[in-house]
Amino acid sequence: MFLKTIDFSKYSSIKVGTPVEVLMIEKNDLPPKDRYLIGAANNLLVSPTPPALMMLSKDFAFIEEEKDYLIIGAAMPTGRIISYAKKYNIAGFEFCAKLPGTLGGMIAMNAGVKTYEIFNILHSVKIDGHWIRAEEIEHGYRFAKLNGLATEAKFKIKKGFDSQLLEELINLRSNQPQDPSAGSAFKNPQGDYAGRLIEAVGLKGVKKGGMAWSEVHSNFLVNLGGGTFEDAKYLIELAKKKVLARFNIILQEEIKIL
Ligand SMILES: Cc1cc2nc3c(=O)[nH]c(=O)nc-3n(C[C@H](O)[C@H](O)[C@H](O)COP(=O)(O)OP(=O)(O)OC[C@H]3O[C@@H](n4cnc5c(N)ncnc54)[C@H](O)[C@@H]3O)c2cc1C
Repeated sequence: MFLKTIDFSKYSSIKVGTPVEVLMIEKNDLPPKDRYLIGAANNLLVSPTPPALMMLSKDFAFIEEEKDYLIIGAAMPTGRIISYAKKYNIAGFEFCAKLPGTLGGMIAMNAGVKTYEIFNILHSVKIDGHWIRAEEIEHGYRFAKLNGLATEAKFKIKKGFDSQLLEELINLRSNQPQDPSAGSAFKNPQGDYAGRLIEAVGLKGVKKGGMAWSEVHSNFLVNLGGGTFEDAKYLIELAKKKVLARFNIILQEEIKIL
């Protein structure tokens, strides 16, 4: 284990935060229980005073094949997983295209696009040193109860990388905001869309300091330059308040506020 200073205004996808000392976990370490584990910070909004943080080092960024299974380290970036699947003609990972992050973050968030989500193809996960079958882990739309630290995961190898599906999914993404964001700020309430609700209460394009509800996709909180945690928090609270008042719907954050 070693400490590394990470500047979240550069490292996080939404470019908000300050330099923070993060404990890096190496291969044979016993990670502490009192630190919050982060991945590649694509789904995080980090305050100037976050809880103590830790992160898996590159020791956990690997892909191995064992018989009919692919074993992937939790620190492996999704982009490298797609490249591997393409190169070795493996099916199932196409939806990870343009879904930034690490495998660990994907599993913890049950990340996905449309009907594709990581739990559909996941065989098992090593959590706090124990292999657990995917079906034994409580999970649903953008959540999974891992109750610990995922270090690697197993997928049954299915041949046949689908380049056409990859193309379709990449095209689907082309209308997403290009400004720094952490993806969707809120989960879609059942039977509705958070973006529609935010737009309906008149917040589309609304700014506070350097942060704004995107003009392109209202559920994306974007950093137009120099946005702070306070600006972001203000806009999140404003959207929750307005949507509750008008629609009696409690919006639930998808992004993790630390
Ligand atoms: C432009 C953009 C578009 C996006 N589009 C989508 C989308 O279409 N669909 C979607 O689902 N998401 C989307 N996201 C969100 C993001 O891509 C996913 O949530 C991704 O899986 C986050 O991975 P990460 O490594 O960055 O995790 P982080 O953001 O660092 O962490 C997210 C959560 O995962 C937990 N975690 C991370 N690693 C581990 C681990 N090893 N063990 C246990 N818990 C862990 C953290 O504690 C935290 O709660 C988008 C983000 C951006 C910036």
